[in-house]
Amino acid sequence: MIPFNKPYLTGKETTYIADAVQSGRISGNGAYTHLCQLFFQNQYSFHKALLTTSCSDALEMAAMLLHIQPGDEVIVPSYTFVSTANAFVREGAKIVFCDSRPDHPGIDETKLEELITPKTKAIVPVHYAGVASDMDAIHDVAKKYNIAVIEDAAHAVDAYYTDRGGRRRRLGGIGDLGTFSFHETKNIISGEGGLLIINSESYAHRAEILWEKGTDRAAFTRGEVDKYGWVDVGSSFLPSEIISAFLWAQLENLEKIQAKRISLWHNYFDSLNDWANQKGIQLPVVPAFASVNGHMFYLVCESEKQRQHIQQHLKNKQMQAVSHYISLHSSPFYQSKHDGRELPNSDRYTRCLLRLPLFYTLSEQQQMQVIHEIKKI
Ligand SMILES: *Cc1c(COP(=O)(O)O)cnc(C)c1O
Repeated sequence: MIPFNKPYLTGKETTYIADAVQSGRISGNGAYTHLCQLFFQNQYSFHKALLTTSCSDALEMAAMLLHIQPGDEVIVPSYTFVSTANAFVREGAKIVFCDSRPDHPGIDETKLEELITPKTKAIVPVHYAGVASDMDAIHDVAKKYNIAVIEDAAHAVDAYYTDRGGRRRRLGGIGDLGTFSFHETKNIISGEGGLLIINSESYAHRAEILWEKGTDRAAFTRGEVDKYGWVDVGSSFLPSEIISAFLWAQLENLEKIQAKRISLWHNYFDSLNDWANQKGIQLPVVPAFASVNGHMFYLVCESEKQRQHIQQHLKNKQMQAVSHYISLHSSPFYQSKHDGRELPNSDRYTRCLLRLPLFYTLSEQQQMQVIHEIKKI
């Protein structure tokens, strides 16, 4: 059986976990947490990075940092994971769903402005499959109406956006805030895990307080205050050192992991391009401003029936290909709260998108088998 995903272990995870345990300091904000955060602040040049227990938690921190109130509106693509919307719904926001681009499941930046009202507080682009949303266009709208931008970069570690000035910028470091996931289905993993990136200095101080249960313990740990206490709302958003130790083993191998995943992605693309053209199937579109980070390879079929056919054929050959999100505007939870606007592209990806096996230990031989079986269809 060739699975869709298989979590990759670099071999050092248990060594670092044992080290953390033996050090006697296994709660959060210790040595491994710092190593991981400094990796993103130094190598990635992010202004400030805080590890969280998940990307969902990082998004919840973002909603709290923006002081989202009941009645506020937040613009989110409908074709995304539930957490992108949930984080804001928990604070009372109304979600205004935006359609996907015709050529890509990411948010359609040309549809944003018509969704803005005086109540709009934030736009949350999702860099689907690690392919950048059009950040300049999104920022144009956000600046005009004084709205915050939060990048859901759950898929987008090691991915770039080239801005209008020709500057190559890391995803997650462009909006006011950015969030990453280290769930075991992502490129870099810690089982469950996430990261909040704070790009606007104005949020940096309060982010640390929300992170440490509403206390100023982070400042206390640095010796900046001589006792710590309850200063704001918050929760326990920081992971234990056991999780950070695991993550550090992964980050040390980021380049190696990325090189393999990107190579697999290009193999799929080059091998399936002619076949896809003949069948009316769309392969991933990567706009000139975006990059490939090897998070995911998918087909957009002509119909749900065609997707079902390909999926079944692969299943018969012991190969697992899977669909992805069900548009949130048609979900059991949000359907009745949605304003009724149709989101045809989002619905099309719900029906027609099929993801192929892509993980670090997928051998080239196994990948050739998958490609061979697809081409037989
Ligand atoms: C995986 C994912 C999340 C949630 O990440 P967790 O770390 O599992 O909370 C959020 N948004 C998107 C787009 C995702 O793919």
